Amino acid sequence: MLNDQGRPTRPEGAAAAEGTPAATPWTFTGNRALRVEEPLIFEIGRAETTGVDLPAPDGLAPRLGRLARKAAPDLPGLTEPEAMRHYVRLSRSNYSIDTGLYPLGSCTMKHNPRLNEKMARLPGFADVHPLQPVSTVPGALDVIADLGGWLCRLTGMDAVAMSPKAGAHGELCGMMAIKAAIRARGETRNVVLVPESAHGTNPATAALIGMTVRDVPARADGTVDVEAVKALLGPDVAAIMLTNPNTCGIFEPEVAAIAEAVHAAGAYFYADGANFNAIVGKVRPGDLGVDAMHINLHKTFSTPHGGGGPGAGPVVLSSRLAPFAPLPFIHLEEGRPVLVETEAGTAPGETPFGRMTAFHGQMGMFTRALAYMLSHGTDGLRQASEDAVLAANYVRAGLADLMTLPFPDHPSMHEVLFDDGFLKETGITTLDFAKAMIDEGYHPMTMYFPLVVHGAMLIEPTESESKASLDLFVATLRDLVLSAKRGETERFTQAPRFAPRRRLDETRAARSPKLRWEKPKPWTAAEAAE
Ligand SMILES: *Cc1c(COP(=O)(O)O)cnc(C)c1O
Repeated sequence: MLNDQGRPTRPEGAAAAEGTPAATPWTFTGNRALRVEEPLIFEIGRAETTGVDLPAPDGLAPRLGRLARKAAPDLPGLTEPEAMRHYVRLSRSNYSIDTGLYPLGSCTMKHNPRLNEKMARLPGFADVHPLQPVSTVPGALDVIADLGGWLCRLTGMDAVAMSPKAGAHGELCGMMAIKAAIRARGETRNVVLVPESAHGTNPATAALIGMTVRDVPARADGTVDVEAVKALLGPDVAAIMLTNPNTCGIFEPEVAAIAEAVHAAGAYFYADGANFNAIVGKVRPGDLGVDAMHINLHKTFSTPHGGGGPGAGPVVLSSRLAPFAPLPFIHLEEGRPVLVETEAGTAPGETPFGRMTAFHGQMGMFTRALAYMLSHGTDGLRQASEDAVLAANYVRAGLADLMTLPFPDHPSMHEVLFDDGFLKETGITTLDFAKAMIDEGYHPMTMYFPLVVHGAMLIEPTESESKASLDLFVATLRDLVLSAKRGETERFTQAPRFAPRRRLDETRAARSPKLRWEKPKPWTAAEAAE
């Protein structure tokens, strides 16, 4: 059965539409036990219903003139309990780090400690408004300055731009600082070197600021060759964007030599710091020659991630780029934080390249990240990194005899990369394998990334999983691999069999998303007669 929007109304309808057998028995409601099918709010709401009961305002003369709406806006109306149930049910459809292991490689989906939440909810932090007079928020400024200080210390860098709101936004910030520095030298350089294994945001950032991307080929072992970088360097190269540990989960062994070569050619070293969780307290990127690096607080420093909350991507800068840090920033004057909002407030030598955001960054995330740091201390942060690397290698050791490692000679850092070699001749793809994990109650790992590995499966357990949790995960994957090898193909090609929706046309959903509900047209007499 299809609804007004042409969507199947029942899970088995979705399967049948693709010609696949229904996996689970039919129910009258389409619900699965206490898991309730949720229609769109437009489908359950009625324009004549409302959850509020306010008297019409008295003697209010509308001033909209001819702009006033002629007809009701056709918004869905629901009673309070209906609205409540709709959104609570939707929230229960989310998979999250609070409901299970979330092994997405590169994304560092780690536990969000409840202590962080408690600190962020303190009214003095939660209720500050960005337009409040600065004199009323010294505590908030202290938090921003303290967190920035920690980030500089942990990375061995000189300055920090706190306002970027995600890793990709941080990339933009760092690359704009690099562009400003090059312009200040009176040069024009417009090429950025990006290794093949890089995250897609790296070349996208370079392109966004008008630079041309030059690919650095990966070596057979997944790392970047300093000689390959040297061959691509020239007077037109502005920067290299390098991820370390890289997206294959490998620490770049020649990173210091690469930095040296890049600097010798007059270019800058942008490090994608998304994988910083592997090396906190062990390596300071500043010591490796990094000029700019974003830090995803929502990865490394445990703030909520993805649908769970806004990101924050502060960027640390070397002394070479510090003068170009964007407004606003904080100066310490006699140990007290002073907010610099405009060029008039800058110190001699400071030439900010502009401003990234209206205000000062994600205050709630700053409070959470600082709470995480203070509750761990330097030794605790180092241990978190060590445990993250240990957990990834534990998963690797538990699966290496059954699954295939594209780079068996490099130890894994915080994530372990498998390829689809072990599925050869089974007729099962990486996608099928990932869908079968959903049936087993696991969010799939990162798939088909990095692109340098065929059928990539990138698993990052993080430090916050217990040994029991990792053991069950490993045992589940072992069972799936053995099942695949025994030829139980349907378990994979038909998966997910137990999810409320089966295989969706993800490409079509991404390419032509339907973001607007259209009111179904009333049936014509001819259609009704049919
Ligand atoms: C997550 C990630 C990014 C982008 O960070 P966002 O916060 O999602 O914008 C960039 N590079 C790598 C390697 C990543 O894993």
